[in-house]
Amino acid sequence: MSIYYYQLTSPEIKKAAEKNSLILLPVGQVEEHGPHLPLECDCIIARETSRAVAENIVSELPVLVLPTVWTAYSVRQVARWPGLISFKEPETMIQMIYDILASLIEDGFKKIVIVNAHGNNPAILELASRRIGSDYNVFPAVTYVLGMSKTIGPEVRKSDMGGCGGHAGEEETALLLHLTPDLVHMERATNEDIVRYQTRFFPGDIYSDIPDRVSGIFWSTWGVAASKTGVYGDPTAAIAETGNALFKEIIKNYREFIREYYDHTESSA
Ligand SMILES: [Zn+2]
Repeated sequence: MSIYYYQLTSPEIKKAAEKNSLILLPVGQVEEHGPHLPLECDCIIARETSRAVAENIVSELPVLVLPTVWTAYSVRQVARWPGLISFKEPETMIQMIYDILASLIEDGFKKIVIVNAHGNNPAILELASRRIGSDYNVFPAVTYVLGMSKTIGPEVRKSDMGGCGGHAGEEETALLLHLTPDLVHMERATNEDIVRYQTRFFPGDIYSDIPDRVSGIFWSTWGVAASKTGVYGDPTAAIAETGNALFKEIIKNYREFIREYYDHTESSA
């Protein structure tokens, strides 16, 4: 049977829900990623991660991948560079995700993992997931693909600190060099938007080595450091081998998390 939700028939979906199939919902965005990466960068990362995770785990548990949610909310600063397709209001995105999750749950699915690759999404997705939990007593997991690479990123990165700023920097560029090399234009990549603002409250790099870092603070990168090219980081340091190592680690961490999430049965209700 296909791992793709939309390739199944309605009776097959009914069976999949009865078998307690895990659903993966990839979420990306269409927005500028500097002069060297395609607009669909986040969609590629979310989609390919979901596919690889599903292929990796399907022999152990029933799993289905949804089509990628390709548009999302982005702050207006991103619109300085053409290509952005954004909801004007984050509430629209919250409602859309809520409705997708509610539809799945009303068909009987209980284990849903959102595989997000867009930096503006976490708070929105968490809110949708919290509302779903509150209304249905089903608790979708919200995950961030780049977060799953943090256990190996510091080891395999090539750029100086500030080179992995989380948006079109070394990390995303390396991932795309591994996943879709034909869509990467390395000759157009520059290091002029390496993130120079780095403190223990705003590390300025997703693999920061600043000691005594404090977590839980949100301060938008777009309001902390200016970007000349729409990039945060140093894409010139990216190579496919780094992307391969990051991707392998991402899949390994997802696999372990999904086992934990899927097997967990305790609930407050
Ligand atoms: Zn991105």
